[in-house]
Amino acid sequence: MKIFETITETQLYLQKNKNDKNKIGFVPTMGALHQGHLNLVKQAKSENDIVVVSIFVNPIQFNNEEDLLKYPRTLQKDADLLQKVGCYIIFAPNEKEIYPEPDTTIYNFGLLDKVMEGKFRPGHFNGVAIVVKKLFDIVMPDNAYFGEKDYQQLQIIKSLVKQMNIPVNIIPCPIVREVDGLAMSSRNMRLTDEERKVAPFIYQILLQAKGKMNKLSPKEITQWVNRQIEIQPLLRMEYFEVVNATTLLPISNWDDCEHAIGCIAVFLGNIRLIDNINLI
Ligand code: AMP
Repeated sequence: MKIFETITETQLYLQKNKNDKNKIGFVPTMGALHQGHLNLVKQAKSENDIVVVSIFVNPIQFNNEEDLLKYPRTLQKDADLLQKVGCYIIFAPNEKEIYPEPDTTIYNFGLLDKVMEGKFRPGHFNGVAIVVKKLFDIVMPDNAYFGEKDYQQLQIIKSLVKQMNIPVNIIPCPIVREVDGLAMSSRNMRLTDEERKVAPFIYQILLQAKGKMNKLSPKEITQWVNRQIEIQPLLRMEYFEVVNATTLLPISNWDDCEHAIGCIAVFLGNIRLIDNINLI
């Protein structure tokens, strides 16, 4: 396995693979890897000749200084995990390598980045799009793997690829959960023991909400979920929305679309967690 810190050495190595017509799979991450990330790597391995994993905590997608400062950075441990799953290349640049000067690109995602995460984290998806576009330009992958855990991000990346005509297949991968149902996240390691005990409740509520679909409308389910979160002293609701899985706009009736999902963001202490569930 190779760990590259510069764009030049990464591209030099990948160029040879491209000349040999090797298929390149790419998994962009911010590190502090867990089984959710490793699943993306495993899928990438099974569908490509070579897998590149980037590890870069992208400052411009954070809109909370404390979240950025406290974001876990565990490069050596990450490298060990990636070695075990047989990843070939880690690209772990520093900030100057990616942003030799500030990138002020403004993307237009229509309503996709105005709702849910976009509403509560202004500028977040523009920061994600800037870094992913740069990483795609560097790695030039055939296939890139993204988790459905960050469902809205996945839709933004699909839109980015379409509007910038980037020749890459975007492959969505299912959410990986802890045995108690909590969606795996690098932020979970910052939960206190008490918070960690409460955290699985988020997915339990989503599952129960799904079970109520034949009795309740999307609006009633939303109200029900809000009440369930409110009665848990440690949880603070940011949003729960039942949306069309393609447009991400809220639906009023179950037959408004073919595929609807429920998306949630809650604070547990200072830690903000997101999750989602397929409804129809
Ligand atoms: P991050 O390091 O949080 O930026 O995540 C890197 C990639 O891993 C993104 O495509 C995420 O959606 C994906 N990912 C993170 N957690 C999970 C999970 N629990 N299940 C599936 N994919 C995940």
